[in-house]
Amino acid sequence: MELSEEQTAVQRLARDFVEREITPNVVAWDRAEDVDRSIVKKLGDVGFLGLTVGEEYGGSGGDHLTYCLVTEALGRGDSSVRGIVSVSLGLVAKTVAHWGTEEQKRRWLPGLTSGAYVGCFGLTEPGTGSDAGNLTTRAVREGDDYVVNGTKMFITNGTWADVVLLFTRSTDAPGHQGVSAFLVPTDTPGLTRRTLHGKLGLRGQATAELVLEDVRVPASAMLGPEGKGFSVAMSALAKGRMSVAAGCVGIAQAALDAAVRYAGEREQFGGPIARHQLVQELISDIAVDVDAARLLTWRVADLVDRGLPFATESSMAKLFASEAAVRAANNALQVFGGYGYIDEYPAGKLLRDARVMTLYEGTSQIQKLLIGRALTGVSAF
Ligand code: FAD
Repeated sequence: MELSEEQTAVQRLARDFVEREITPNVVAWDRAEDVDRSIVKKLGDVGFLGLTVGEEYGGSGGDHLTYCLVTEALGRGDSSVRGIVSVSLGLVAKTVAHWGTEEQKRRWLPGLTSGAYVGCFGLTEPGTGSDAGNLTTRAVREGDDYVVNGTKMFITNGTWADVVLLFTRSTDAPGHQGVSAFLVPTDTPGLTRRTLHGKLGLRGQATAELVLEDVRVPASAMLGPEGKGFSVAMSALAKGRMSVAAGCVGIAQAALDAAVRYAGEREQFGGPIARHQLVQELISDIAVDVDAARLLTWRVADLVDRGLPFATESSMAKLFASEAAVRAANNALQVFGGYGYIDEYPAGKLLRDARVMTLYEGTSQIQKLLIGRALTGVSAF
């Protein structure tokens, strides 16, 4: 598959951006458990928060392969920053662009695509993760408003976000039939947030718990039809998994770059460790994982851009790429020996960041059930 001149130019722009704005800060942000939030505005200025969104809403257009190239480059630099884009643009802005009314698009998209606003995606709850359709946050109609009560858990960008794409139960219909989606400004009275500290990886990211107590939301804030909120969530996640997969390719590529470099520099037994066959095995395993994950991811982007069904392929790419990123980072750590265990060297952080990719936006087990259901026509959930 060959990239167009435009795609190659954006890829170069993304790599330069990462080298200039992210790489010098990675270790400090990880240790501080906080990225410098001015990065959001910089991501907006360079157009990375508006990819695939129409220019009439402040977006920078482009196709989904370009979006994946940028996501990969960001993931290669810092998964915490990559996650800001994957969620604020990938899960929130793109979903508003797809499901929103004209008024909702004009209200939210220019801010989200410029980086003036950050978005977060509120699906998971303390009691419902994989079984998201059984969520219990409740929206009860009162006149022109809904009154919302409930708790959301593990919400990426949660503490910084200006708007939450919130999934609630708004009708008495059971399971996902009763779920609706709302766009809720995070300064709405009754909404409180708490950052979750002590994460294994993605330490620069503001992962939060959101508590909603009698939060009053106008009916006009509902995104998509009442009772169709689960479809809104699943459509967001189908594309979101492509974005996670692209970020994982970036992690695996960073692992490969670091392992090759170190193997050429580090000397043991009278020469560089690169000349040992077992070290070459570690490196070649990483390289195969990088290429396989990238090709699966690009296939999804190509399907999306051609308007073809892509959800199962997106699950496949996310499943493979996330497991591949963990393997690749772990293999890279092995190449680094004891130095791999110290955060002045990159492999440890890559491994810590990669690990969550097999958990969020559907665990590896959930991806297998989705793929299995698509292939057999039988649900094993
Ligand atoms: P559970 O669903 O309790 O699963 C526990 C184990 O059981 C897993 O191994 C799972 O695979 C397995 N399991 C469950 N059901 C089945 C089944 N039917 N068959 C086989 N195995 C099964 N959520 C959001 O809404 N928005 C976010 O922005 C967001 N960001 C996140 C960021 C981080 C850092 C983390 C850690 C999580 C984030 N999440 C977010 C939540 C994430 O999507 C959930 O953690 C994930 O869906 C798994 O849910 P759970 O943690 O409740 O695990």
